[in-house]
Amino acid sequence: AKDQGKNNFRVFVSNMRQAADQRMFLQNELNRALEAGELTLHYQPQVRIQDAAVTGVEALVRWNHPVKGLIPPNQFIPHAEESGLIVPIGEWVLRTACKQNKAWQDQGLPPARIAVNLSARQLLKKDAVQIVESALQESGLSPEYLELEITEGTMLDVQRSIEALEKLKKLGIHIAMDDFGTGFSSLSYLTSFPVDKLKIDQSFIRGAADHPNNKTIIATIISMARHLKLKVIAEGVETQEQLLFLKEQACDEVQGYLFSRPLPAEEMERYLRGCARG
Ligand code: C2E
Ligand code: CA
Ligand code: CA
Ligand code: CA
Repeated sequence: AKDQGKNNFRVFVSNMRQAADQRMFLQNELNRALEAGELTLHYQPQVRIQDAAVTGVEALVRWNHPVKGLIPPNQFIPHAEESGLIVPIGEWVLRTACKQNKAWQDQGLPPARIAVNLSARQLLKKDAVQIVESALQESGLSPEYLELEITEGTMLDVQRSIEALEKLKKLGIHIAMDDFGTGFSSLSYLTSFPVDKLKIDQSFIRGAADHPNNKTIIATIISMARHLKLKVIAEGVETQEQLLFLKEQACDEVQGYLFSRPLPAEEMERYLRGCARG
């Protein structure tokens, strides 16, 4: 029994080491990718239901790996969050997205907001507000054309989040609460959180057809947002049926494959140009 215990421990350690090595490997690879310029952004339009105008474009990061090809964020963002690499990666995303939006505006495309995902770890850094300010200065983008998408993860430190968000709001930046409805703390903090917009999580939209409860949840979020004077956007809209329901509920904006998948910059530019011509 003693021997077996020893054995198990060895197996345990070796597994642990493997996992640690794997983490270390991925961390080194990600660091290298950032330095080597292997990260890239795709862009997805956000469309106002009322008149189909593109009011925003969300920047979504991908890893263009020299051997493995395009790696989706779900495969490396969680590791980046864990290791803290999300801070420099997120900063690169922010700077790149602001520059891209300014470039589109300079090309005469109809101005839209660029929506950038900001992780809780980024927001809670001491210099978070300075970094956003410097991204705006460096790009020349007007703050009203930047929207930061935060998640309920920021509720980890409510006081500090509110302080940072209030400073960002003073700059004229918009704040959206992403994946709304999937966390726990949302309702109690919503009124004290300086947000402009709620983004209804795509799981509710996806399930709307099969589960009537999801429709009730969507309708409730939209009505609550209206009373709190917040805008609402629904993500993951794939069907005409979903769009119609959201329109009936007077949802403000939608984002999803029904309009466009996330596209590389040049393709998004063509999409925006097509919209401008109507
Ligand atoms: P998210 O912020 O909730 O982004 C929406 C995700 O839904 C994107 O996945 C988008 O491609 C996908 N999507 C959009 N429309 C549809 C649709 O109609 N149907 C379906 N099935 N999916 C749709 P993506 O690009 O793989 O990103 C996944 C997540 O990775 C994001 O979820 C976000 O949490 C994270 N992420 C992406 N870029 C960044 C970033 O720059 N910083 C941080 N912190 N997180 C990021
Ligand atoms: Ca988002
Ligand atoms: Ca989301
Ligand atoms: Ca999500």
